[in-house]
Amino acid sequence: MWMCSICGYEYDGEDFLSVEDDYVCPLCESKNSYRDRDMNSEIEMAVREFKNNE
Ligand SMILES: [Zn+2]
Repeated sequence: MWMCSICGYEYDGEDFLSVEDDYVCPLCESKNSYRDRDMNSEIEMAVREFKNNE
């Protein structure tokens, strides 16, 4: 899932990589702020952090 790292807007169109160069976030109007978020690895990282804090 592609998500704006500034405002959190989720891209919901076709293949993001094909529009990446021209894409401007419709909410915050920033460019090149989108990150490909992988929920599984983010959960894994959060769990690891949680265990480190114990
Ligand atoms: Zn944005």
